[in-house]
Amino acid sequence: MSKIRVHELAKQIGVTSKELINKLNENGIDVKNHMSSVDENDAKKVIALFQQKPAASPKKNKKSTENKNENKAAQPENVDTPKNNHKKSSKKDKKSEKSPETIQQLSDIIIIKVPKNITLKELANKLKQSVSQLIKMLMSQGLMFNQNQIIEFEQASKIAEKFNIILEEAEEMELFAQELNTADDSQDLVERPPVVVVMGHVDHGKTSLLDAIRHTNVINTEAGGITQHIGAYTVSISGKTITFLDTPGHEAFTAMRMRGAQATDIAVLVVAADDGIMPQTIEAINHAKAAGVEIIVAINKIDKPGANIDRVKQELVEYGLVAEDWGGQTICVPVSAKNNIGIDDLLEMIILVAQMKELKANPKKAACGIIIESKLDRGRGPIATVLVQNGTLEIGNPIVAASSFGKIRAMINDKGNRVKKALPSTPVEILGLSSVPNAGEMFYTTESEKQARQLAESIINKNKMAMIKESTAKISLDDLFSQIQTGGVKELNIIVKADVQGSVEAIKNSLERLSNEEVKIKTIHGGVGAITESDIMLASASNAIIIGFNVRPELSAKSIAESEKVDVRLYRIIYDAIEDIKLAMKGLLDPIFEEKILGHAQVRQLFKISSLGTIAGSYVTDGKILRNSKIRLIRDGKTIYEGELNTLRRFKDDVKEVLEGYECGIMLNKFNDIKENDVMEAYVMEEIPR
Ligand code: GDP
Repeated sequence: MSKIRVHELAKQIGVTSKELINKLNENGIDVKNHMSSVDENDAKKVIALFQQKPAASPKKNKKSTENKNENKAAQPENVDTPKNNHKKSSKKDKKSEKSPETIQQLSDIIIIKVPKNITLKELANKLKQSVSQLIKMLMSQGLMFNQNQIIEFEQASKIAEKFNIILEEAEEMELFAQELNTADDSQDLVERPPVVVVMGHVDHGKTSLLDAIRHTNVINTEAGGITQHIGAYTVSISGKTITFLDTPGHEAFTAMRMRGAQATDIAVLVVAADDGIMPQTIEAINHAKAAGVEIIVAINKIDKPGANIDRVKQELVEYGLVAEDWGGQTICVPVSAKNNIGIDDLLEMIILVAQMKELKANPKKAACGIIIESKLDRGRGPIATVLVQNGTLEIGNPIVAASSFGKIRAMINDKGNRVKKALPSTPVEILGLSSVPNAGEMFYTTESEKQARQLAESIINKNKMAMIKESTAKISLDDLFSQIQTGGVKELNIIVKADVQGSVEAIKNSLERLSNEEVKIKTIHGGVGAITESDIMLASASNAIIIGFNVRPELSAKSIAESEKVDVRLYRIIYDAIEDIKLAMKGLLDPIFEEKILGHAQVRQLFKISSLGTIAGSYVTDGKILRNSKIRLIRDGKTIYEGELNTLRRFKDDVKEVLEGYECGIMLNKFNDIKENDVMEAYVMEEIPR
């Protein structure tokens, strides 16, 4: 009996693979994913089922789960209950206003975000109270207010408390973005193209693959279109569109994520069939996993004599990517970017995965998205390539991207054509911004240019705040315990870098075993070699700490770690690393000590006393020598001895310290091999406050 793959059958019927899988499962036919096979009889049965009534049920199911918190619509706008503080507020519904008492029944305390400067009238709106009610309350405290008067945050908070509402100060931009982010009506949602990034090891063919894909498309699309490199491009296959980010590699991808932007849905992992998995392949896998994007593997260079597809698949298994034909979930497509083999298959698979993800957007609303690239053009001013993520971007729209704002004067698509509109998942170059925005920044369209300007100004402040907040919010071993206690940490992400793979594995395994009920320890990346910028970026984007074993950070990585406030810990003994994490989880880390050099003394004359040992008559050249300092004896630049100072004397007296410019006699603890002109370096170990 012949068999057919789910995705092929779905295509024949004209439904998505997901709809088909649901239908099959509903009817007792067990299929796991789009690559599962269905036999002929089952296929016929399901075709008949779809002919009976159009397939729409899965969508309805989805809708009901999406709106499961309907009763929250009764809450005031921009509401976060303490429990779902981080989730977007539910769709507001102005019609069904309820009294605060009702709200209280729904949840004890409600948090509402308000701008710093709020008028009494705005406050009344937010609290869903009448202005006169609030004026009365203030009057009873002897305060006279009119509705347009700005009420101080503290005063406003006191009023809100009476209604069991906590006010939280929020920046204008935050409130604005939050308002835009309200859930869409499911009937406004339409399918949007997937946004794809290409990653992989250097020289495995990322650029060639992006070129090959772009090339396929130029032939297929309207004549005269010259591909422009604007940072992203779209291709179409079987009537569907895919958007590719044109910057290969995980660095750019993670840099965006560091700014909090998630631009991509799918990562194509390029692995050269003649080379197999390499360090950057592993990095790319881990970066994609940390971001939660789907991975499709393009096994490239299959034209080469040394190509071995199975070996690549074998190696992938180690990293949790099991190819479908090996019983796993990972789609692997053999391709040759050079000879144009398998490119269409790859595109088809991307479409398939996109369908499974049910990527949707609402083209009816104002646009928002992400800046992919930007530059200053001498003639045309600031130019930015934006990727519209939701809504429709149109010429004339006022727009703000962080501190940059303006009105869209012109839009040019990736084929070099001027366009009036850009739909979700479309990249376009835009003209009309006041300054060059940073790549990775979010953009929003606003109601007016004035509003855009205001938001841009407010964002300058917000960025400052965010920087402060972010630098303190980063995880570190020192405050891990308190973060666990306050419930701020449920998962401790760790990146392990070591000199040999064996150590990486050993540390990974031992650390993960430390997971307990409160915290799960998760190694998001492990690799051999120095700690690189890319590691720091991943750590910053994923709020991870880095454990280095017998390796050090590269110079550039070190400075980024400092500015990003990434906790990097270096160890020479595996046991120490494990012990530190264990203690950090209990909040018991030992204090850290740092060496502080006090001063130097030069040995000028030696006095050997048989009953005592050698006394070094020395001259303090800089700083001071303390009785309780430790001494490093340096001869010709080499350290000869390191240890305790035994006696410190001036003439015949024991002293506590000897300052620069004075002579003294020094005896070291059980060490007499001192020579004239040796240098004594005095230091103490100081505790660094945690
Ligand atoms: P990237 O560093 O990952 O962007 O790799 P490139 O796209 O620059 O490719 C590296 C080298 O591999 C170039 O010399 C390409 O011509 C070559 N290359 C890329 N794809 C293929 C392929 O499918 N077959 C063969 N034989 N060579 C390829």
